[in-house]
Amino acid sequence: MTPRQDTASAETTPFEADLRAAGLRVTAPRLATLAVIAERQHSDADAIATAVRDRLGTVSKQAVYDVLNALTAAGLVRRISLDERRARFEVHRHDNHHHLICRSCGRIEDVPCVVGVAPCLSLPDDRGFTVEEADVVYRGLCAECSAAAAARAGDPAAS
Ligand SMILES: [Zn+2]
Ligand SMILES: [Zn+2]
Ligand SMILES: [Zn+2]
Repeated sequence: MTPRQDTASAETTPFEADLRAAGLRVTAPRLATLAVIAERQHSDADAIATAVRDRLGTVSKQAVYDVLNALTAAGLVRRISLDERRARFEVHRHDNHHHLICRSCGRIEDVPCVVGVAPCLSLPDDRGFTVEEADVVYRGLCAECSAAAAARAGDPAAS
């Protein structure tokens, strides 16, 4: 019996198994991209590329974008569109969760699906489509921005 090597096992992430299970070759850029997304869910491609380059140094932005596309196609990463500006990415947990987004500060939070199963909303007439999912995005003001707005409006309840 060899003793457990905790330093080594800390480096072998479950992402290696995820990549193999998805039929993807395990590469340093793919592992780094998954680790970065797991750390900072809902980042955009630019922020992810910057963080991956910080870790690996040698990888081009375009290479990270290619990795993102491959991971998304393989179902390991979920691409979400919350606003017109840019797609964001998170590790795909296949839990069909939705998002709250603050229109003032841009804060994003996960919220569980009320229905629990995709596609959440059933159409009265699906026109023959096999609907797989419905994007649900709750927009508004987060608690802090609501409080700030109420304070600005002189609402005594917000003091
Ligand atoms: Zn806010
Ligand atoms: Zn999310
Ligand atoms: Zn739902």
